[in-house]
Amino acid sequence: MSAASGKLIKGATGDWETVIGLEVHAQVTSNSKLFSGASTEFGGEPNSHVSLVDAAMPGMLPVINEECVRQAVRTGLGLNAKINLRSVFDRKNYFYPDSPQGYQISQYLSPVVGEGEVVLELDGGKTATVGIERLHLEQDAGKLLHDRSPNLSYVDLNRCGVALMEIVSKPEIRDAEQAKAYVTKLRSILRYLGTCDGDMEKGSLRADVNVSVRRAGTTELGTRCEIKNMNSISFMGDAIEYEARRQIEIIEDGGSIDQETRLYDPGKGETRSMRSKEEAHDYRYFPDPDLLPLEFSEAWVAGIKAGLPELPDQKKARFIADFGLS
Ligand code: ADP
Ligand code: MG
Repeated sequence: MSAASGKLIKGATGDWETVIGLEVHAQVTSNSKLFSGASTEFGGEPNSHVSLVDAAMPGMLPVINEECVRQAVRTGLGLNAKINLRSVFDRKNYFYPDSPQGYQISQYLSPVVGEGEVVLELDGGKTATVGIERLHLEQDAGKLLHDRSPNLSYVDLNRCGVALMEIVSKPEIRDAEQAKAYVTKLRSILRYLGTCDGDMEKGSLRADVNVSVRRAGTTELGTRCEIKNMNSISFMGDAIEYEARRQIEIIEDGGSIDQETRLYDPGKGETRSMRSKEEAHDYRYFPDPDLLPLEFSEAWVAGIKAGLPELPDQKKARFIADFGLS
């Protein structure tokens, strides 16, 4: 599948193409968390929605929430993706004080959903298709509060263990407009399905944006930088344009791009370095021994497929066919 061409950027030495791949974190719509019965309700008193499992008390065991799995499968089907009949939960090991387990339960080599696609609606009635690499289930982390005390940090574990779907696109997005159209369309599909409320202000949908550049007409991928945690579609567009120009200037000045994680500062309109590839974590993934692999029958998946609502692309096709709309 080839990507639709995007807007080229004029550099001092010629035209450049932007290459973008997105990792979207979407909070699963469910009453309780991925591996515990605690509520997922937004905005409770700090630490009021925390079970012993979420707080990682010794001896507690995770129990899979079937509804979260069903929602991930529904989302996969809505993205015309391959549903993997067997998938595995892995431990992603790292220490951070907002995650008392000392690891995140995620899916690594065997995600619940494989390749799919999203059709973008572009200006002038044009469309473009972006490939999906995978969708996997994982736990959200808690939140550190640094503004309650001058010399202490507090932790709120209400979000800890809430189910997220990480939806990873192929690097087939070609400019800021396509990236905005991609998130907009993905959010619309999730909302039609009722699998994520898509509320970016509450953090229910956030994107890590991978950006690289290459000379127009070339096909090799350049070194990418990843802009973390964008929770606004318009800021994401600004961040991509800034980042692409930054990379082009460096390369045109004879430099090279360091693979790194960056943060966007909307006040300054700039991205800045957060950590370099050298500091990249080694997460020591391994299958979580507390959880069995997920196994589905074809019939179970077919039953879910039969129950999906009409999605945006189908509705559009129906309006064109039935009402002769343009
Ligand atoms: P990681 O595990 O380091 O996050 P992945 O291979 O899973 O790396 O890729 C993460 C995202 O980066 C994907 O959305 C992918 O499309 C995108 N990506 C990979 N290479 C490039 C590149 N050269 N330029 C832009 N985006 C890229
Ligand atoms: Mg990444």
